[in-house]
Amino acid sequence: MNYDSNNIFAKILRGEIPCHKVYEDDHSLAFMDVMPQADGHTLVIPKRGSRNLLDAEPVELGPLLASVQKVSRAVRKAFNAEGVLIQQFNEPAAGQTVFHLHFHVLPRTAGTALRPHTGQMADPALLADHAGRIRGALTD
Ligand code: AMP
Repeated sequence: MNYDSNNIFAKILRGEIPCHKVYEDDHSLAFMDVMPQADGHTLVIPKRGSRNLLDAEPVELGPLLASVQKVSRAVRKAFNAEGVLIQQFNEPAAGQTVFHLHFHVLPRTAGTALRPHTGQMADPALLADHAGRIRGALTD
């Protein structure tokens, strides 16, 4: 399957639709998931287009994982989480719904259930607040 540059994350990267930005560098962008499975649910994407992990250039993965780690540390701190779940889906059969490579970063606390994948849209004001909390917890 080929990469389709009309996917929603490509549009976010081009600034055609908004996002609640958490972090950006030369290689990656992180922003709040609009249908969070947990408060603080953040997505980390590469700037270079690939459909998912299966067609990504290996050389892109190091910098991308460094961003996932950076954002995960900030998410854990911002939400005082006990752990962080990283999810990454490849192709519809595996649950992928947006076809631009992305990693889900989910703060986890024992005994708190995750909400459904692509469930309810969150209040934009709440997402803005959560993005600010995570940005505030980023370290260099
Ligand atoms: P996946 O099923 O792994 O492809 O995940 C796609 C994720 O993108 C889901 O968790 C959606 O809630 C999320 N999502 C879809 N549209 C947007 C958007 N415009 N901004 C932020 N997150 C989105």
